[in-house]
Amino acid sequence: MEIESMVANSALIRAREGGGGKGRSWKWREMLRFPHISQCEDLAMSIERDYYSLCVKQPIGKKLFQLFCQSRPDLQNYISLQDALDTFETKCDEERRDFGIRIIQKYLMTASRVWSSIPAGTSSMTAGSKDLHEYLSGEPFLQYQDSMFFDRFLQWKMVERQPITKHVFRQYRLLGKGGFGEVWACQVRATGMMYACKKLEKTHVKKRRGESMALNEKQILEGLDSRFVVNLAYAYETKHALCMVLTMMNGGDLRFHIYNIGAPGLEEDRVRFYAAEVCCGLMHLHQESIVYRDLKPENILLDDNGHIRISDLGLAVRLSESRMVRGRVGTLGYMAPEVISHEHYGKTVDWWGLGCLIYEMTAGQPPFRSRGEHPSTSDMERRILTQQEEYNDKFCQEVKDLCSLLLTKEPRQRLGCWGANGKEVQSHAFFKKINFRMLEAGLVEPPFKPDPRQVYCSDVQDIEEFSTVKGVILDQKDNNFYSKFNTGSVPITWQNEIIEMGCFRELNIFGPSGSRSPDLDC
Ligand code: ADP
Ligand code: MG
Ligand code: MG
Repeated sequence: MEIESMVANSALIRAREGGGGKGRSWKWREMLRFPHISQCEDLAMSIERDYYSLCVKQPIGKKLFQLFCQSRPDLQNYISLQDALDTFETKCDEERRDFGIRIIQKYLMTASRVWSSIPAGTSSMTAGSKDLHEYLSGEPFLQYQDSMFFDRFLQWKMVERQPITKHVFRQYRLLGKGGFGEVWACQVRATGMMYACKKLEKTHVKKRRGESMALNEKQILEGLDSRFVVNLAYAYETKHALCMVLTMMNGGDLRFHIYNIGAPGLEEDRVRFYAAEVCCGLMHLHQESIVYRDLKPENILLDDNGHIRISDLGLAVRLSESRMVRGRVGTLGYMAPEVISHEHYGKTVDWWGLGCLIYEMTAGQPPFRSRGEHPSTSDMERRILTQQEEYNDKFCQEVKDLCSLLLTKEPRQRLGCWGANGKEVQSHAFFKKINFRMLEAGLVEPPFKPDPRQVYCSDVQDIEEFSTVKGVILDQKDNNFYSKFNTGSVPITWQNEIIEMGCFRELNIFGPSGSRSPDLDC
C-alpha cells in the first residue's frame, strides 16, 4: 500500500474512533447556540401542531415532551407506562409474557390509579399504547405547547434549520466513485458524527440530464426512516456539487465480502442474516410504495457492527395509484424477466433481486453468469428469460428451495408476490432460525463484526479519478433545481445525531425549575 493511502486510512480510523465528544470542534457550543426565544416567533406561528410528529416521531421532540410530563406529578405515570411499553418491545420472547403481565397489572387494569382517567375496557398492550397517545395528544399536548419545554423545542428546531455549507464538515478519505461524482468520508464539526458524503457534480448532472434522478433519490431518502436503509442527514450544495450526507457504513459492501475475503461466497449463517435484513429493508420500502429496482451486492453496505443497510436509491421509484411502472432500469445481470421484456411491473422485481442476491452470496457467483464471463446483452437477456439457474453443492436444501421460488420467471407465481408480500418470504423454512420481531428491533447479534482497524474499501489511488466535463454552462433554471435539492438538515436524522453524540444532554439545561427562565438562550 502506498504511503498516501496509509495516511488517509489512519486519519479516517482515528476520526471514527473518537467518541465522548472527542471529534467535536472546540467551538462546538457556539455552533449549536440556541437563539433567543423571541427569535423563534415565526417558527412558533408556522410549525404544524401535530402531536404525532412533534412528540412521537421527532427524537428531540419526544424527549422534551417526556421531560414536560415528568415535571408534572399528574403525568409522571403516563411516562413510566410509555417507557414500559418501549421496553416491552425490546424483550425477547421468553421474557415478554411475564413483562407484559406486569405492565397490565401495574398500569392497564381499570382499577389502577393511572388508568382511571382513561375510558375503561382496555386490556391489551397495543390498545394500551393507542389510548395512551390519544390521552396525551389532548389536554397534556395543549399544556406542553405553553411550557418552557416547547420553547426549548423551538430553539432546537432553529438550530436544526441553520443553513448547511461545506464548512459544517471536515473531510476525510475518498470512499468510492459513483455515476455523478465521488463519495467521501466526512465528520460534522459541531458533534463529531461521521457520515458519508455523496457528491453529484453539477456539470455531470446537467450533461447527462440527471436532475430528476438526483432529486428523486434525495426526496425518497428524506422521507424514509428505516434501520435497513441508509439515512439522509443533510442535503446541501457547494459551488460545484450537490451533496447528500448519508449514514456512514464502515464495513464495506457485500460485493467486497463475497469476493475479496477468502474463497468467493459467504457461510450460511451470514447469508441468512443478510438476506433477512435485506428482506426487512425491502418491506419498509414497499410499505411506502417504493420499488427499489437496484438490488445487487455492491449496493448493500455493512456498518460497524455488521448490520446491513440498503444504499443507492437512485433508481428507486414511488408507485402511483396504478401500482405499476415501466422502464428498463437496473443492472443487467440482476434485472427481472418482466423488466427485460418491457412489461409493466411493481414490487415483484425486488423479490427477484433478493433471489439473485441470496444466490450470489451462497454460490460466490451470480445466477446467470460465471465469474469473469462477459456475455453480450442479448445473450444475458436470453439466459434470464429462458435458462434454469443451476445449484451446486454449496446450496443446502432450504436455500436452494428459497432461491428457486424467488427466481421464478413468471412474476405472479414468484415468492413474495402471492398476496402476503414479504411475510411469505419471512416464513420460508430457510429463515426458521430468525426471529423477525427481534431483527426489526435491531436486537439480533450479527454473525460477523467488521474489524474497526480495517478500511473496507479500495485504496485511494486505486479509485479512478473523477473526470471533469467541459463546455457545460450553468444558468438560472439550474439554480431553481438546486434550491429544491438544497434543503439542509433532515429533522429525524439530525435530532438523532444531536442525542447520540451527547450534545442534547450537555446543552439542554434549564434555568430555575418550572419557570420560563430568562437564560433560556444560554
Ligand atoms: P452511484 O449511485 O453513483 O452508484 P453509490 O451510492 O452506489 O453511487 O456510491 C458509490 C460508492 O461509494 C459505493 O459503491 C460505495 O463504495 C461508496 N459509498 C456510498 N455510500 C456509502 C456509505 N453510506 N458509506 C460508505 N461508503 C459508501
Ligand atoms: Mg451504486
Ligand atoms: Mg445510483
